[in-house]
Amino acid sequence: MNIKITERNVKDEIIKGRHKLVVFEGPEGLLDKLKDLAGEIEKEKDVAVVVIGDPCRGSCDLKASHIPQADLVFHFGHVPTVSTHHKNLRFVDAWVEVKNPLKKMLTKENLEIIGSMGKIGLATTNTYEKICVTVKKFLEKEGFNVLGEIAEITGCNFDKAMEIEEKIDSFLFVGDGRFHPIGLSLVTEKPVYKLGLEEKNIKNLEETKEKIVRKRLAIIEKARESKKIGILIGLKTGQKNISSALKVRDLLSKKYETTLIAMDEITPAKTLNFKGIDSYVVTACPRVPLDDVENYVKPMLTLKEGIYLARGGRLQIL
Ligand code: SF4
Repeated sequence: MNIKITERNVKDEIIKGRHKLVVFEGPEGLLDKLKDLAGEIEKEKDVAVVVIGDPCRGSCDLKASHIPQADLVFHFGHVPTVSTHHKNLRFVDAWVEVKNPLKKMLTKENLEIIGSMGKIGLATTNTYEKICVTVKKFLEKEGFNVLGEIAEITGCNFDKAMEIEEKIDSFLFVGDGRFHPIGLSLVTEKPVYKLGLEEKNIKNLEETKEKIVRKRLAIIEKARESKKIGILIGLKTGQKNISSALKVRDLLSKKYETTLIAMDEITPAKTLNFKGIDSYVVTACPRVPLDDVENYVKPMLTLKEGIYLARGGRLQIL
């Protein structure tokens, strides 16, 4: 699998411009490619290009803000979010390229699954959008019932999928990884299937979703026994969710002692620094309590789970 970027535009802008210090940042899978691109540019022009070696999972995490001297910043592979402002910041698309993405996928079994999905709503992430368009064209050509729009989602924003939810019977998520398709399945009542390019199969995520919901409920019940709950605020550019942190603190403080703690990278080791805190609500990135759940000793809840713990009602995880 190959991740592509429009190197030419980036090179042109740096070489034609008068910039002295340029910063590149992007997701883990791109860092080595960015290092090579920086080297090529520095050979052609007297400019310093710094590649941020810490990978970022979204444009919520603009590490280039730690280098205010930079006069140009390129953020690769994520779509801009409202909370990401930076002087001279450019977002550069990155996309996964797979030759013949449907090869080995067109088995009788997979086609039967697609045929059973009713009206299909396609969902994907920014890097898989081109492949999703190929899949859409194929499904239309074969006469499957597919909605015209493709819903682009991020790990914590499913608005585009929610906009098409009423018009479809099932979602088909096109892409790899676990967090995005599982996240989609947690926010919608519609069945979600994943067309995984790496796994080369189509899988109904209903069973996985049920397992996760059961596990989340068990974690919430454990958190219910807490005396003191820590409310974690993210310090990353787009993760400083202070108003939500204060809201969940107000709700929880009717039943529990609470304490507000802010940190940049939330890690299992850091959460153990605070004695007497029995569980945490994470108001920063929801991937922390969901993706890394096995690594934490204390119950870690998402913001919505924290609200559910405080006032009951219908469980929402994301
Ligand atoms: S899921 Fe986390 S890393 Fe991804 S965009 Fe949301 S806050 Fe950022």
